Amino acid sequence: MTEGIVGEFLALKEETEADLLAMQCGDFYEFFADDAEFVGRELDLKVSKKSSHGSSYPMAGVPLSELTAYLKLLVERGYRVAVADQYEVDGGHERAIERVVTPGTLLERTNADARYLAAVVEVDEGYGFAVADVTTGRFHATELDSDELLTELYRFDPAEILPGPDVRSDDDLLERLRATDATLSLHATEAFAPGRARHAVNEQFGEATVSSVGLDDSTGAIRAAGAVLSYVDETGIGVLASMTRLQPYDTGGSVALDATTQRNLELTETMGGGGRSLLDVVDHTVTSAGGRTLRERLCRPIQEENELARRADCVEALTGAALARERLRETLGDGYDVARLASKAVSGSADARDLLRVRDTLAVLEAVAETVDSSELGDSPLAGVVERPDGTAADRLADELDTALAEDPPASIREGNIIRRGYHEELDDLIEGHEEALDWMDELAAREQSRLDITHLSTGRNKTDGYYIQVGNSETDEVPDEYDEIKSLKNAKRYTTEELAEREREIFRFEERRSDLEHELFVDLRERVAERAELLQDVGRALAECDCLASLAVHAVENGWTRPELVESGIDIAAGRHPVVEREVEFVPNDLALADERGFLVITGPNMSGKSTYMRQNALITLLAQIGSFVPAERARISPVDGIYTRVGALDELAQGRSTFMVEMSELANILHSATEDSLVILDEVGRGTATYDGISIAWAATEYLHNEVRAKTLFATHYHELTGLAEHLDRVANVHVAVDERDGEVTFLRTIEEGATDRSYGVHVADLAGVPEPVVERSRDVLSKLRAEKAIEARGSSGETVQAVFDLGAEAFRGSASADGGRTADGEHESSDDAADGIDPTAESVVEGLRATNIDELSPVELMAKVERWQEELDDGN
Ligand code: ADP
Repeated sequence: MTEGIVGEFLALKEETEADLLAMQCGDFYEFFADDAEFVGRELDLKVSKKSSHGSSYPMAGVPLSELTAYLKLLVERGYRVAVADQYEVDGGHERAIERVVTPGTLLERTNADARYLAAVVEVDEGYGFAVADVTTGRFHATELDSDELLTELYRFDPAEILPGPDVRSDDDLLERLRATDATLSLHATEAFAPGRARHAVNEQFGEATVSSVGLDDSTGAIRAAGAVLSYVDETGIGVLASMTRLQPYDTGGSVALDATTQRNLELTETMGGGGRSLLDVVDHTVTSAGGRTLRERLCRPIQEENELARRADCVEALTGAALARERLRETLGDGYDVARLASKAVSGSADARDLLRVRDTLAVLEAVAETVDSSELGDSPLAGVVERPDGTAADRLADELDTALAEDPPASIREGNIIRRGYHEELDDLIEGHEEALDWMDELAAREQSRLDITHLSTGRNKTDGYYIQVGNSETDEVPDEYDEIKSLKNAKRYTTEELAEREREIFRFEERRSDLEHELFVDLRERVAERAELLQDVGRALAECDCLASLAVHAVENGWTRPELVESGIDIAAGRHPVVEREVEFVPNDLALADERGFLVITGPNMSGKSTYMRQNALITLLAQIGSFVPAERARISPVDGIYTRVGALDELAQGRSTFMVEMSELANILHSATEDSLVILDEVGRGTATYDGISIAWAATEYLHNEVRAKTLFATHYHELTGLAEHLDRVANVHVAVDERDGEVTFLRTIEEGATDRSYGVHVADLAGVPEPVVERSRDVLSKLRAEKAIEARGSSGETVQAVFDLGAEAFRGSASADGGRTADGEHESSDDAADGIDPTAESVVEGLRATNIDELSPVELMAKVERWQEELDDGN
């Protein structure tokens, strides 16, 4: 066994599950052996060699004062780091692991985003799920089915997940968990055991709470919650006490918004990474907690009409009170993240400046409440939002902090100068004595100068000599006998005297007692703040909600949004806009009418004409209405939906490198299973990921099922014109299309939605826009007009056969030598196109050959695209 310090390190490392161990050795925290090599690489630290009992080990260290900064770096990269501190015992040292810092339990955050710690266990019919934010004390637990679990994981985006013992043997789920950004930590199996977990949860929140939030029978939720609590406790950062409130959450009351839909609608992040998400656009919050609230609301729309009306009433009042609103936001901006400060107080890591921030934030709430009361906002439910929870307790705490804390305390809580005069009698006496002694010291030099008539006499203090009297060499002969020389410098000598030494001891005593007492008083004060953690969390929530509502009002005013009306049935939107796109381009507003008898719209129109923008804008308007916001429309009447489901085109996903058709079908399956009559479903091209026959058949069948069985409100954009025929068979289906203006061969997308189907795809126009070489575009126009004249397109009837027929025809016509083989293709009257054929060069000939040989039923759109690209390249080279 390895002995000495490295041996001790390796033994401690054995004790912990953490990835890395930092062990205190005097003024440094050291990493040894493999850990040293690792942090050397990760943190760019110098790795040296430590010899120990004949062997040599890699060693890397960081100074005590820099440990926190390095820990943050390691933990934010997903590592768990155990920290062993060193203690003096009987003249020697002992070391023990004091805490484990992990991604989900790191208290010091570099940014404002919440980073959650989650636990997942398997139960009979689903999963137990618990999630906590240790920095704010937020804690939820529930049971979910597997889709809901994925949705919640996406929504919370935990930094660290504790998989229960059963989950660890479920390869599928593990795979999913690994696909998140979270660190998976294998917490002790016993912590997930039902009895143990229930005990932990009851201890923490009280049995009454557990049953009042309906978790009594929810073994899965309890097991997950218990595991989270014991993990937080074990990692030893002391914040367990800040988790005062177990919040129920019931996904049933909220609107189903699966992970795919949150992504597709680009609620909080964009799909390609570029551009702006809905959150980016609507966020005008002035505090980080307000920003978090807005984000949470966007990801968790609700159906509860009273709550929606309450929020919208607040937004409406705020839109109408410009002055009060701006005053409010200015005041809010002076507050701090008080829920986080409360957690720091609970864990004992808050310093005097943190407590001053608590005081200032309490004052902010008071000022906000006054602004609301003294303006027209006082009549709105906003008054209830900022009505200070337990006002007297908040006032008392604010007063106490105010009288106790000095105005400009240092960051250290050990150096004194943190408590205000007049707060504590004994401290005041100490301070007085201390200052008297300091005054005596300050005046000593002047006194001695005149008593002894020595000009070059001064006093000073440093670490090694303490207080001293210094006399320049020219006058050292003059010093009296009672001066004891303590040091000789080049130009001067230093002395002490008995009286000076006595005063010095007195000053040191005062200093020590003063800083001890100040520290003690401060710790008391911090504990009283910690006891008020729950109150402070309430204050934080009130301020955050106020900020979020004001932000929605600001956006509504600046962009001319209106209050949606909640109705019994249907969705009726006049002049609606896309909240993000309207910020970027001159937007053409559009209407939407979905009613019981007209609940399914098939939307056709050329590529790039605005189909998917139209569908998304309507989904977003519905979603915004269901977070209590105003919406980008002249008028909106919306009956709240119970879920929003989306499926967007395979091509969009290709950009993200996901396997397409399988994903598309599993998303479709999910929608067909989960959506209800009260849901809103958005389908942007179904079945494109496979060959044409397959694609149309699947799209056709899915439409029938959604229409007949699910009966969800549906918007379905498709380029399969065949599907417009559905309106004849299914009574609630209506066709709409994006209008196109075509004059003198010039095509303009009007971006307005009109009733009825379109029969043209304007593919040639899009090819032109995309930069396909002019001769090819020209020739395509020729071919197309011939085909039209041929009325071949009229054969458009009910199946993919048509598509192949048209395709064959195209190839024939392109060659200009159409034959009559197919029976439906060109005949004699097309001989007139011979002149065109003369112009065809060998490259074009070979491209046409390729075109002819292509069987589109065997190819996916992507493969087809690749072929077309190759043909284009050939043509370019041929030119
Ligand atoms: P499609 O789904 O039909 O292929 P998109 O919805 O992706 O078309 O829209 C194509 C482009 O047109 C988008 O870049 C968008 O900015 C713009 N656009 C769409 N709808 C409108 C509108 N109503 N007003 C202005 N521009 C729009």
